Amino acid sequence: MELLSQSGERRREDEDNKLSGGLDYFKVIAALLVVAIHTSPLSTVNGTIDFLFTGILARAAVPFFLMTTGYFLLPRYLFEKSGDYRPFRRFIKKEVFLYGTAIVLYLPINIYAGQLQGIGFTDFLRMLVFDGTFYHLWYLPASILGVLLLVFAGRKLSFDAVFATALIFYGFGLLGDSYYGFLSDGGVLDRIYQSMFQMFSYTRNGLFYAPVFLAMGAGIRKKYKLRHAADIACGFIISVSLMIFEGLTLNYLGVQRHNSMYIALLPVMFFLFQMILRIKRKPKKSLRTVSACIYIIHPLFIVLIRGAAKITHTEPLFIENSIVHYLAVCFLSVIFAVIMQKVVLNGKVFYAEVRPFGADKTAARKGRAWIEIDRNNLRKNVCALRSLLPPECELMPAVKANAYGHGAVLIAKELNRLGVGSFCAATVLEGVELRRGGVKGEILILGYTHPKQFPMLRKYRLTQSVIDFSYAQLLNSFGRKIKVHLKIDTGMHRLGERAERIEDIRKIFCFDNLMIEGVFTHLCADESKSGPDRDYTWKQIHAFFDVIADLEKSGCDCGKVHLLASYGLINYPIYAEDYVRVGIALYGVLSNRTDMEKCPVSLSPVFSVKARVAVVKDLYAGEAAGYGLQYVAESDRKIAVLSIGYADGIPRSLSCGNGRVLINGAAVPIVGRICMDQMMADITDIPDVKSGDVAVVIGKSGEKEIPVYDLAEESGTITNEVLSRLGSRLNRILC
Ligand SMILES: *Cc1c(COP(=O)(O)O)cnc(C)c1O
Repeated sequence: MELLSQSGERRREDEDNKLSGGLDYFKVIAALLVVAIHTSPLSTVNGTIDFLFTGILARAAVPFFLMTTGYFLLPRYLFEKSGDYRPFRRFIKKEVFLYGTAIVLYLPINIYAGQLQGIGFTDFLRMLVFDGTFYHLWYLPASILGVLLLVFAGRKLSFDAVFATALIFYGFGLLGDSYYGFLSDGGVLDRIYQSMFQMFSYTRNGLFYAPVFLAMGAGIRKKYKLRHAADIACGFIISVSLMIFEGLTLNYLGVQRHNSMYIALLPVMFFLFQMILRIKRKPKKSLRTVSACIYIIHPLFIVLIRGAAKITHTEPLFIENSIVHYLAVCFLSVIFAVIMQKVVLNGKVFYAEVRPFGADKTAARKGRAWIEIDRNNLRKNVCALRSLLPPECELMPAVKANAYGHGAVLIAKELNRLGVGSFCAATVLEGVELRRGGVKGEILILGYTHPKQFPMLRKYRLTQSVIDFSYAQLLNSFGRKIKVHLKIDTGMHRLGERAERIEDIRKIFCFDNLMIEGVFTHLCADESKSGPDRDYTWKQIHAFFDVIADLEKSGCDCGKVHLLASYGLINYPIYAEDYVRVGIALYGVLSNRTDMEKCPVSLSPVFSVKARVAVVKDLYAGEAAGYGLQYVAESDRKIAVLSIGYADGIPRSLSCGNGRVLINGAAVPIVGRICMDQMMADITDIPDVKSGDVAVVIGKSGEKEIPVYDLAEESGTITNEVLSRLGSRLNRILC
């Protein structure tokens, strides 16, 4: 296994993920095995055979559920030591929700059966945390507690240490389960277990039982995957035989306090799980919901069938014939589960440990080159910028130019989640894209919209900027109401009606079809707070507020008033008014490095660009590489060909040693001319670079970072241009 390159391993893992559907199918079988445990289907045939089935073999069902959770959720915490706790939180949330729902569902039966009568707080806690509030529900708190324990242990301990600890705990558990009778009556150990059983009724719980299977699932994913089917089959047959022998012997000796835990269950699960992984099927997520439903609901059907059989006097058939009883419970549970999945959830997948596809989809979407969006930093920037705003003022982020290259829909939706409710875009088609992507709130189109596109403004509920008086007439003549913000030109002399033409501006308020919801201007010298720039900015600000005062005096309702963009907010925050149209600062960057050094709030970049190493090749002394023979090797060199080029937005001026990239935490020069789809870097000085490795064009690798300022300086422009040109061809991955 060591021989496999890391990328090879990653690829193999993606492949595994894509074909992990066998697990989904087996989940349904496992759920039906759990039903068997609770109905003893073969008991009317033969007690021993039934025990063999439900007291031994079917005991593989619950560990299997735990292992799939471990397999998908835990590798990132036990092996990769990821600090991203979102999947973990998602899992806990779902399980808690499921547990809560199930508790409520079974409450009437609890009450009817008198199980809640006279129970104290500690009993209640014991039920809630360990035993489950209904007999089968123990699994949910056990998986929650087990995952919690492992994730926390994984922060400090290596996987091996975690797994070893879980094994030891399982050993303790065994002594309180199948092996209990070996404790000498009243001995020290017995007394210890007696007092433990005050806290929980069984040792098959989140402490002694769940952790080892959860860890084993993760371990199989990352290090114990067996290659040969024959090994797996042999291992399985041997361990199942051992477990049957172990179970029957313990049962014969009468030492079992309970029959959930066996020594041989560990190897059985190890091999069984690998066997199921071999069933290469596409994932079928709906089966996860179905199996969870069967699991939750079947005791209810046991109760109902009992009741119905009593009333209809069909007990001999439905109760006393254990096979028919089992099949009836299975039948109703499956029907219920399918209806739940199809009708109530409408095909949506509720129950999945983690999106097992998440990682795989991401890998596929990354492909040859990609942009990573750091959602945490975006949130931090929103908080930092909000801290500069006066109380009534809100952010109106500029998400034009695909959110400065960051991905407009992605960013705007993330901002929606952070409570941002208004945006500005440059063009009407950008607005349409945002709406189609599901972005909520007000969207102001800052630029010119062609009259043929006016219907789109209404259809997609966009707000158009009135860019001068005659454009106001044009908009009004469309004949239907359009929402607008009125733009005033206070000195930039780009768009907007000139501030001194106050008569015309007032007239615009009389147009019937314009619903004026805001008035704004744009500053053009707000990068600095001193000298002529400051004087000019003040002139602009005064001209703007004169217009506002005049309009208000004449009884016009200006609606939302706004004039500041990123630099305006940083340098002149007291003029924030109703909205601040922040763009570049929101993305954690300013136009150049020196501005950032002076910035009063701390902002963090949201954007990284990464590309794969396609090929590593030798270049011998005297040979040239790339178009125009611009790079000639002076000595023998090693070159990495990176799968990203100027068509992806990399400035071509970084060619020939002007720019650098990071590979495995080291900076290396770009050599030769950057091509449309590829570029080359000299990796002679860094070891072990191979095809599939990641090169960082903007962002961090190990300790090193290439900030976007480097690219802006090397290509003689501002960060805004570098960012907004990046990546019409790149997927954006939210991290
Ligand atoms: C682009 C733009 C903004 C955002 O500018 P930043 O400097 O990136 O904050 C604000 N207002 C208008 C009119 C714009 O065109």
